[in-house]
Amino acid sequence: MKKYNYLIVGAGLFGAVFAQQATAQGKTCLVIDRRQHIAGNAYTENIHGINVHKYGAHIFHTSNKAVWDYVNQFAEFNNYVNSPIARYKNELYNLPFNMNTFYQLWRTATPAEAQAAIENQRIKKENPANLEEQALNLAGTDIYEKLIKGYTEKQWGRDCKQLPADIIKRLPFRFTYDNNYFNDPYQGIAKGGYTQMVANMLKGVEVKTSCSYVEFIKDNPQIAETTIYTGAIDEFFDYKLGKLEYRALKFETEYKPDCDNFQGNAVVNYTEREIPYTRIIEHKHFEQFGTFGEPVKGTFVTHEYPAEWQKGQEPYYPINDDKNNDLYNQYKKLADQQKNIFFGGRLGMYSYFDMDKVIAKALEFYKDFA
Ligand code: FAD
Repeated sequence: MKKYNYLIVGAGLFGAVFAQQATAQGKTCLVIDRRQHIAGNAYTENIHGINVHKYGAHIFHTSNKAVWDYVNQFAEFNNYVNSPIARYKNELYNLPFNMNTFYQLWRTATPAEAQAAIENQRIKKENPANLEEQALNLAGTDIYEKLIKGYTEKQWGRDCKQLPADIIKRLPFRFTYDNNYFNDPYQGIAKGGYTQMVANMLKGVEVKTSCSYVEFIKDNPQIAETTIYTGAIDEFFDYKLGKLEYRALKFETEYKPDCDNFQGNAVVNYTEREIPYTRIIEHKHFEQFGTFGEPVKGTFVTHEYPAEWQKGQEPYYPINDDKNNDLYNQYKKLADQQKNIFFGGRLGMYSYFDMDKVIAKALEFYKDFA
């Protein structure tokens, strides 16, 4: 006898939103996740009073009002605004590229002066052959050398001359003194952490953690009428057509009990090639910031290192080049032939989605079942 309407593999945002929607409509759901916790990559763990973003810094931002209203049912959001700092050889610059950055680079004070300085720096090319030529064409020498080159090479593990030009389509210069990284009207961090937000979504839903699909389904083949699978699509088919590739990340997190404020900002990017990490995250500044934050003793900092991905490691960023997209499309054909199994989420769809996009996808996806 089938027990549930839905077996949902993965307690990340896609799985949790789907389960929440289905449960609200009276369907029965079982959510399983092989990790020891819910919330997928958005997982935060409260340690010594600080919510640590275990799989990389997560800042919620969206221009989708319906998604914003949806998440606000499950968490209150603070008014955090992402304003990263770039550090290059002990020089500090505001990001994204704005009037503050231009002042720091060239002492320009007005938009006209900044535009003239950029124009003066540009090395124009009609058809840039690689990322270096493209960046020099769009931004000129100083911005490329100090703020783009080293960071990009660390991220991709390759020289900018070997990277395609179209990785950078345009550079969002802002000719105002505005350090807000995102253009979206809604932004913040879920107060109390994203794990709490996902737990609220999953209220009334049965959840089993430390539970891997392959073993579970062997023992419970009839557990549900329909399966929603948010794990990696190639893994589901036991890599029979080959492995999809990812960029991986390594996080080194350290608790500093005797330091209350390590870097004065949540995100500091290290843009020089010689420093192996791309950024340092200081987690307490996502929530205990400015004059309104609760003072918390000690601090957590995470050094983030990009890395080559190997099977068995956590897949972070899909590499959506032609080769991998072709392979994904072949897996997608196999997936479409499956009876009563549907694939969703960043791993099931082999796409990078921000949290708001994955929530929108899951809401839309559920509509097809409702
Ligand atoms: P996941 O969160 O990966 O959830 C999938 C779950 O499925 C996992 O928990 C996994 O354990 C489980 N699973 C997989 N296979 C199996 C199996 N066989 N059996 C059982 N369980 C399985 N978004 C933003 O909006 N803002 C940010 O600042 C931001 N920062 C990010 C930083 C980093 C480093 C990364 C990698 C992503 C970031 N994102 C950010 C994106 C965000 O993480 C995703 O939008 C979101 O996590 C996707 O949710 P998901 O449910 O699709 O996938």
